Amino acid sequence: MLKKEQPPVPPTSLPHEKLTPIEFNERVSRLLLVCIEGLCKLVPQKEFLYETLNDLGRVIKKAVRQKPVTGIAREIEDYFIRLALENKFRETKKDVMKQIVFDLTTTIQDFVASSSHLDDELEATLQEIDGTDSMKDLMAAKKKIVGSLKIIRDRSSSLKSELEDHKKATKTLSQQLEKTEAVALVDTLTNALNRNAYNLKISQLVRDYERFKEPFALMVVDIDHFKNFNDQYGHKAGDKVLHSVASNIQGALRTSDLVFRYGGEEFVVLINKISPENAMRLGEKIRRQVEQDYFIDPRKKTLKVTVSVGVTCSREGDTETSLFDRADRAMYQAKRKGRNRVESAL
Ligand code: GH3
Ligand code: MG
Ligand code: MG
Repeated sequence: MLKKEQPPVPPTSLPHEKLTPIEFNERVSRLLLVCIEGLCKLVPQKEFLYETLNDLGRVIKKAVRQKPVTGIAREIEDYFIRLALENKFRETKKDVMKQIVFDLTTTIQDFVASSSHLDDELEATLQEIDGTDSMKDLMAAKKKIVGSLKIIRDRSSSLKSELEDHKKATKTLSQQLEKTEAVALVDTLTNALNRNAYNLKISQLVRDYERFKEPFALMVVDIDHFKNFNDQYGHKAGDKVLHSVASNIQGALRTSDLVFRYGGEEFVVLINKISPENAMRLGEKIRRQVEQDYFIDPRKKTLKVTVSVGVTCSREGDTETSLFDRADRAMYQAKRKGRNRVESAL
């Protein structure tokens, strides 16, 4: 089964194939191009190497006819897509870590700055005490000192609890970061982020929501009657559909939005800083994009799949489970109402 816009093309290279020198050059150039384009995704754009690779890519591109990427070239391209996605994901984790360390430093700096004037005040009061014999002045000075000490005590205890919070968050994050370095984060069948990545991201989002109240949306996207599709057209065709649905979901979103393969034929989408109305609009865009896509099977039959989508947004007091369950219930409601639709639990 192949996508309509891709005419059947034989695999890229077979050892016994007889190629003319031109065809051979063309094939090698195409492989090189895929590698260079993949490397460009990994190298930061401001680096000199990026410019060099980009220029090299442009030169090779001129020599290569535009053909769909297939076979080994396709596998290399997929490999680089996964690598770039993993790197991007790891970088966002590191950014959060940096932010926490920055917050921590600012808290301590604020404390020191706000306490230093108390230090001055105390010094002045001590001098006042030194220079007086009046009981009235001494009582007034004592009152001032007690006041200052109370302020310091209150600030220290609030600083202590703030530092405790920071300590906990930093510990969890560094543990998570270690885990991130150790496990694979991208699903090789669909090139979407996998369940490990989802677990890491959702816990971070829920924690950030508690602190900063930045709204985010969670969507559950489930392919309709996928079992029937597999039974009728085979598991291999089903796998291609999974890859294609993941691309369609990603295609409907911005690159900063994250798509995860949650399980078999179920995806989760996480979108940061979005209103409920826009989240619904995006859910509808995903549904439409999948519906509009189609496949042609080897017998020239047009095949289509649809998805049911459940949308929800972060709420005060939400946990990872409460959020997911709400979106999942909305998705099941979409199934009950006839599938190929979007329902919300906002
Ligand atoms: P519904 O509309 O209610 O969601 O029906 P459904 O058939 O999509 O749901 P069900 O949970 O009954 O079946 C899910 C199917 O997804 C069963 C399984 O064969 C298929 N599936 C899960 N993972 C994969 C995969 O990696 N590749 C393929 N080809 N199929 C998969
Ligand atoms: Mg399904
Ligand atoms: Mg399902």
